[in-house]
Amino acid sequence: MKKALLVPLLLIFLISYSEAKKGVSIKSLRYSTYQNYTRVVVDLDGSAEYKGNRLSNPDRIFFDLKNCRLPSKDKSVAVNNGTINSIRMAQYNSKTVRVVLEVKEFQKYSAFTLEDPNRLVIDIYNEKGNSVAKKDTRTRGRVLAEKKAYKIKRVVIDPGHGGKDPGAIGPGGTREKDIVLHVGKKLGKLLKKNHGMEVIYTRDRDIFVPLNERTEIANSKKADLFISVHTNASKKRKTRGLETYFLSWSSDREAIRVAARENKVSIKKMQKMQGGLSMILQDLARNSKREESLRLAHSVQNAMITSLKRDYSRIEDLGVKYALFYVLVGAEMPSILVEISFISNREEEKRLTSIKYRNRVASAIASGIDAYISQSTLIVNPEVQGKPRG
Ligand SMILES: [Zn+2]
Repeated sequence: MKKALLVPLLLIFLISYSEAKKGVSIKSLRYSTYQNYTRVVVDLDGSAEYKGNRLSNPDRIFFDLKNCRLPSKDKSVAVNNGTINSIRMAQYNSKTVRVVLEVKEFQKYSAFTLEDPNRLVIDIYNEKGNSVAKKDTRTRGRVLAEKKAYKIKRVVIDPGHGGKDPGAIGPGGTREKDIVLHVGKKLGKLLKKNHGMEVIYTRDRDIFVPLNERTEIANSKKADLFISVHTNASKKRKTRGLETYFLSWSSDREAIRVAARENKVSIKKMQKMQGGLSMILQDLARNSKREESLRLAHSVQNAMITSLKRDYSRIEDLGVKYALFYVLVGAEMPSILVEISFISNREEEKRLTSIKYRNRVASAIASGIDAYISQSTLIVNPEVQGKPRG
């Protein structure tokens, strides 16, 4: 754990621990509409504590940002996107800025602060779904099924870590961020060349990209799949193998340990978060295309193990697992996180430094994705032909 002060992304009742001493100014207010939720972001010039609550008549959710100033006049934005009617921001008293979200009806929400740059992020889930969206889905049912079958075209590849965050470091000094960047780029090239897919990278060089921005990229580009690539690490140097994860809450100790490391929080904090958040997490899991992600995970995991076993000895299949990975939270498409061997294991570290092995892993992931897509066609086809509508 290199950074002690990393703000967990998902705590709803979260208070930022660092104290705002001189007062923090609000820089801007913005929002984006996604399929399942609306994200409101309040940009700040320092870290601030906040408290959130909801009120009725009209239904609204408000956040008081403590020790904060609103440099400009009170602000009001009409949103009217079916989830939020409007957002207002005002200097509530000399030290508190209040942000009020007028919502359509009582909606589930989560809020958290992020650093670098400092901001308060509020996600309002439209889980009941407004009537417009429902009607839309019904009439476009056939189109959507076809899209699923034939148009898995755009893939977001997410090489883990980067920039100031090296990820796990092997006993020989190999850095996770370098290995996964190479594998990610190779995977992208193969998907483009051999499988005719469009590829978007969350990073294609050695830069730091915050975890939540990675799925935001995927959502805003309307990607069909999200693939995050990592190398594993364990205190036990003997531990080895490959495993693939999808997003869910988990009671498995090892899964929690891996998620805690990738999320950069302690195992204790991970367990606490899961406990307090099971409701929200169940929603997230549902929204995150759990079944599809599970199928994608199996397809990729099988392809990696089968391909590598042909030429390498002692390839251990650690299987498909699930855990709460921040980087997968909020993704609106099937999404997985692949741990391509243990960088902490001497032999696997050595393999990871070889271009041949890395390329082999990349091409195995690509064929796993390809297999997933052809299975999708088989599963969805009867539906498309059986009930044409709209
Ligand atoms: Zn990692």
